[in-house]
Amino acid sequence: MTLQGFFLSSQLKLKNPKINIAIDGYSSSGKSTLAKALAKKLNYLYIDSGAMYRAITWFIIQNNIELNDKHLEKHLKGALIKLFSVDGKLKVSVNDLDISEDIRSMEISNMVSEVAAISCVRTYLVSIQQSYGKDKGVVMDGRDIGSVVFPDAELKFFMNADLATRSKRRLLELQHKGHTNLSETDVLKNLTHRDNIDSTRADSPLVQTSDAIVLDNSTISFDDLLEKAYEMALERIKLAN
Ligand code: C5P
Repeated sequence: MTLQGFFLSSQLKLKNPKINIAIDGYSSSGKSTLAKALAKKLNYLYIDSGAMYRAITWFIIQNNIELNDKHLEKHLKGALIKLFSVDGKLKVSVNDLDISEDIRSMEISNMVSEVAAISCVRTYLVSIQQSYGKDKGVVMDGRDIGSVVFPDAELKFFMNADLATRSKRRLLELQHKGHTNLSETDVLKNLTHRDNIDSTRADSPLVQTSDAIVLDNSTISFDDLLEKAYEMALERIKLAN
């Protein structure tokens, strides 16, 4: 930490004001790794909004619900989504069933963006996401956090990395979780597909808001990225006083 960061952090510990931090960007650009680490450093709540879209997708598949079902909105009310933490790891459950591992499967990844493009799904999840942020002190990552969920967030980041870096990172993550039958081409196809739907959908497309700070994660080391984000957060917390 720089000297300036050290002084800011000691001052802020006394006052403990809180802000909301939005991190948006393309699939597998490293948003969640940064969001998680930043939340830990600030002692804030980390919310993975993508996990919520994945959980709804899981629920839709499990219950054989058609995406054009005219009662979809009503069906969604039957999915009680909870985010919780076990040994510092973020978990997600639907109706109290822990589905944290299941939602990372390719089956879910290949369908989630179609589900996330449906307006009633977004309305349902955005209201839950906004409730998490009402007392501030949240770092949330996703696609529409700075534009729709927390348009007034005190700090917004937009993350990107080149497609090859993102595919490699995603493949490693999946292999680490035991999905060893996937090729880089499978992953690359999925990322391109999701980026395309996420950026072109009518409701809340992925956009870089004019007040977002762009972070390119292709070349910078993770430690440097985190330090940069942390110092900016300390500055904004100070301004929010
Ligand atoms: O963050 P993650 O890649 O797990 O998100 C999965 C999908 O959920 C994205 O590809 C996108 O379609 C959708 N999503 C969204 N809005 C968010 C977060 C995720 O549409 N705020």
